Amino acid sequence: MNQIYIVANWKMNTSISDSINISNMLINSNLDHANINITICPPTLYIYPVYQILKNSSFQIGAQNIYSEDNGAFTGEISARMIKDFCDTVIIGHSERRQILKESNQDINQKFISAKNFNLNSIICVGETIEERETGTAKEIVTKQILSALKPVSNFTNTNLMIAYEPVWAIGSGKAATAKDAQNMCIHIRNTISEISEEKLSQNIPILYGGSVNSDNIKQFISQPDINGALIGSASLDPNEFIKLIQKIK
Ligand code: PEP
Repeated sequence: MNQIYIVANWKMNTSISDSINISNMLINSNLDHANINITICPPTLYIYPVYQILKNSSFQIGAQNIYSEDNGAFTGEISARMIKDFCDTVIIGHSERRQILKESNQDINQKFISAKNFNLNSIICVGETIEERETGTAKEIVTKQILSALKPVSNFTNTNLMIAYEPVWAIGSGKAATAKDAQNMCIHIRNTISEISEEKLSQNIPILYGGSVNSDNIKQFISQPDINGALIGSASLDPNEFIKLIQKIK
């Protein structure tokens, strides 16, 4: 896979002026990012202003979450049907949503089905907690997260599915996984996908690593054979650092 995928997750950070400022800086940086697919995921409220700036550029826009229903009496929620006019992609099952907002594997599966129905590209996040890692159940947990998120869908492709391996203990902690450990889990993820799809398809699904990635360590991750890019939190909030990170990939 020649393409590298970089996804910026701003989480519940950035003001309206930060969002506009970062978007303008990205556009004006004249970043040469041929072969690097970059998706910016602002807070929901700022998707539209960011879309206005990035819509005719080579940057893509993603949402950080959706609800599984298309419309109706679901106060405070937002659907795939609503975001599809502004976004190409949606992050589903981020560990903060699993842990803080108690989303289950079943919720994540329903969201994936909804995103797929509206031709959105889903980034399904999986990863173990520190306790699961220490008790040796990390692979088992990740297998369960993947199989329950994807079933019964089988006709996924590299245009409607990416997986982000994000060990929970590495997110926002400044302690990234080693590139070797991340690569091992990403092979495991690819093998798990091949159990429910054709072998060739599993080879084409982009698998990203996320967890304390920055401009100093990005190269270690993307040089691994089964890591096709990165999901970036903190380092995407500083436009200079984010631009530097992209330049390092080149
Ligand atoms: C994330 O939010 O998915 C993430 C990986 O955050 P950070 O880069 O800050 O660890």
